[in-house]
Amino acid sequence: MTEAKKQIVDNFGRPHTYLRISLTDRCNLRCFYCMPEDGVELIEKPNIMSLEEIIELSRTFRDLGVDTIRLTGGEPLVRKNFGYLVEELAKLGVTLKITTNGITLDKYLELFQKIGLRKINLSLDTLDKAKSVFITKRDYFERVMRNLEKSLEMDMEVKLNIVLIKGVNDNEINDFIAFTKHKNLTVKFIEFMPFKGNKWDWSKGVGKQEILDTISEQFGTIQELKNPRHSTSSNFKVDGHTGSFAIVSTITSPFCEDCNRIRVTADGKMMNCLFASSDTDLLTPMRNGEPMNDIIMNAIKTKKYSRDGMDVKMDADHYEKNRSMISIGG
Ligand code: SAM
Ligand code: SF4
Repeated sequence: MTEAKKQIVDNFGRPHTYLRISLTDRCNLRCFYCMPEDGVELIEKPNIMSLEEIIELSRTFRDLGVDTIRLTGGEPLVRKNFGYLVEELAKLGVTLKITTNGITLDKYLELFQKIGLRKINLSLDTLDKAKSVFITKRDYFERVMRNLEKSLEMDMEVKLNIVLIKGVNDNEINDFIAFTKHKNLTVKFIEFMPFKGNKWDWSKGVGKQEILDTISEQFGTIQELKNPRHSTSSNFKVDGHTGSFAIVSTITSPFCEDCNRIRVTADGKMMNCLFASSDTDLLTPMRNGEPMNDIIMNAIKTKKYSRDGMDVKMDADHYEKNRSMISIGG
């Protein structure tokens, strides 16, 4: 009899097949909703996983049934020797994806094409240059827009990540929808989420229903699309538009029941949830040569059903103890 294939399954019977790895906690932008105003305590260099350790850990997860790996950060493209890393990860035979602010994307598009990385989430919160400078505290708007165009020309599957904040970019919802008229991309509106130090207050957030109402008021009929399995967003399309739009409603309508995600931070801590207040150190045992499978499979057993136990409401005592988004890897 052959042994059943090992899988990372939590206490709710959910197999975890999707790993998000933060390659670095460094970033070349300072988005105010992500990076706390006073900055973050950066991970000391020796505690950051080396490229070889990232590859080894990815292989371990792949052997435990992970079939999709998303590279994130901080800004993943500022990681030194990123090109080497992504080429090695592509050899693992998993679907590779990336979330990036797009500043240096042009350097890697050909490589992505060569190794079959096609799914790019590009953070672009506004279509207005001055506002982009306000949000990111840096001036890279034109460069990012150029890289977005290049990505589309090279037939990448692009999703724009837009964190909606009242009084900042909520008046651009329909500009982004207009963007989908002739462009083959998805604009993904993300509800503003609380993390340590980001001064979250839901009165600044824009909820799913409000987004849908705003769009249908201007564009009329909205088609609801079938959500892929494990999707963390609801997906829609305006009649006659080439592209589509999506809403990540973590606050007003969480989508945790079918969660298949695991996160690993740049210092090798496994987090079961974006809002997890505890984590499991994988780097130390890996450096000590310990067998990793049981450590990972036991760690997933501590996963809570939804939002790390904040099933009903977001609780400041809970999320203020967590890491800030920039050091988790969204
Ligand atoms: N630097 C890359 C980027 O910006 O795409 C990757 C890391 S970033 C932390 C990943 C995603 O998290 C981005 O799309 C960002 O907009 C999102 N994000 C950061 N802070 C957030 C918050 N408070 N609420 C919702 N999404 C957030
Ligand atoms: Fe950097 Fe991305 Fe956070 Fe913006 S959202 S500060 S680009 S990690």
